[in-house]
Amino acid sequence: MADVIPVPSSHLTSVALGKSYRNGANCVEVLQGVNLDLRKGEFLSIIGQSGSGKSTLLHLLGLLDSPDIGEVRLDGKRIDHLPAKTRDDLRNRIFGFVFQFYHLLPELNLIENVLSPLMIRYSTWEYWKRRHELKDRARDLLAQVGLDHRMKHKPNQVSGGELQRAAIARSLITEPEVLLADEPTGNLDVDTGKGIIELLNQLNSERQLSIMMVTHDEAIARRAQRIVRLCHGQIEYLREKVA
Ligand code: ADP
Ligand code: MG
Repeated sequence: MADVIPVPSSHLTSVALGKSYRNGANCVEVLQGVNLDLRKGEFLSIIGQSGSGKSTLLHLLGLLDSPDIGEVRLDGKRIDHLPAKTRDDLRNRIFGFVFQFYHLLPELNLIENVLSPLMIRYSTWEYWKRRHELKDRARDLLAQVGLDHRMKHKPNQVSGGELQRAAIARSLITEPEVLLADEPTGNLDVDTGKGIIELLNQLNSERQLSIMMVTHDEAIARRAQRIVRLCHGQIEYLREKVA
């Protein structure tokens, strides 16, 4: 195991993470010893070509998949090897996810989509008891992402940028500590994409939300505080934005 001393303010850490996929006789080594720290309250971009393993890395860090070797640590404690149930609880409590294709449920309107993680988190009875408070929270979040006029719209009745804003509101309803965003602007035109990055920047500075965003677009990546590049299965270089 590589001896990586966690930075004191380190929040989410990957230690010598390795992951490969077997495809028949071929073995694709995607991650080959990734060491990376997301600091508390930081907005970090991971850039890399298509197929370089960005999504794989995000999935490992967010406990959606398990590494072959190495560790994922949260506040210095290893979390990737915990029992499945503990990992599920941790994932729901700590992480928010935003994806390129939004993954909203088409039959639910936007406010119902935002509420959906809580319907999963709470029992039916608990949810029903708290429904007014939870709906107020969902309304506040939709207003914060600029969708107060779209709450009852279905996903097919709003634009791509609005879908991503709703998906961001949904990711925040569980009050995550870390937001993992996989190509959040990948399906949007340039200006709409900029609006989404501005929203992420605002959430980062106002809520001290730690954000790790992967993108293949360097112009988008530059809007974060720090950029790292994933190349040949490893983190290649770091760049800090000068304040
Ligand atoms: P990126 O997000 O940077 O485009 P990915 O992490 O999605 O890259 O994929 C990295 C590599 O791993 C690609 O070559 C991809 O084909 C392969 N890969 C990803 N997931 C799987 C899987 N479940 N089974 C087999 N190969 C996979
Ligand atoms: Mg990807």
